Amino acid sequence: MINKGKAVNNNNRILNDFWKVLNLAEDYLSTGFAKNHPKLDLSSDSLEKITTEISVCNKCILGKTRTNTVPGAGNQNPILMIIGEAPGAEEDKTGQVFVGRAGQYLDKWMEAIELNRYDYLYLSNIVKCRPPGNRDPLENEISACLPYLERQITLLKPKLILTVGRISSQVLTHSNMGIGKMRGKTYEYQGIKLIPTYHPSAVLRNPEEYRKPVWEDLKRVKNALSEIKP
Ligand code: SF4
Ligand code: URA
Repeated sequence: MINKGKAVNNNNRILNDFWKVLNLAEDYLSTGFAKNHPKLDLSSDSLEKITTEISVCNKCILGKTRTNTVPGAGNQNPILMIIGEAPGAEEDKTGQVFVGRAGQYLDKWMEAIELNRYDYLYLSNIVKCRPPGNRDPLENEISACLPYLERQITLLKPKLILTVGRISSQVLTHSNMGIGKMRGKTYEYQGIKLIPTYHPSAVLRNPEEYRKPVWEDLKRVKNALSEIKP
């Protein structure tokens, strides 16, 4: 015998589901999934999305003084990610990462360990806009900008991170030690090995003191990569 009550319940359920789908479709068309149904958010993060957000960002005061944003660049499946401090004058002028004197010197470092910025590498900075006169980025500027870098690292999943200079080394390891004390050790950022070294600008200013330790650090980078590379 057919249970009439059950059939009616079933019909109601189907009708309910139908309305739910219709409502979702309507929400999608009018406001997008992301806003009203965060759990059903089908959109995903991407480097392009981050770059676009940075290009119009005014979350800190550096947005007022920059010429161009400098989101970072390189191989999208990098074995190594190099993280500096902030764009300098040349980067601000061009929007390109590490293209000034320090950047050209950094390219030489990479050559020495048989890497170049188009293969295996991604380059970025802690803040994406130039601080006036190349001053250090302030704490509030760093905290405003850091989520962009965190998203870049999450997407890029580098096998190793090389932080150049005190600021990026301290920020990513939550340390307040000087770079001279920090270097020589390996740290971790969200499960990714991190090696800190001096900033190429510092080495250009004082090669006698810094060239040798940087070379040691680069050899450690090379060794770490040879363990990772297939
Ligand atoms: Fe935005 Fe970062 Fe530029 Fe500040 S430095 S305006 S947080 S992109
Ligand atoms: N110095 C940095 O730390 N980053 C750049 O992009 C250029 C110079």
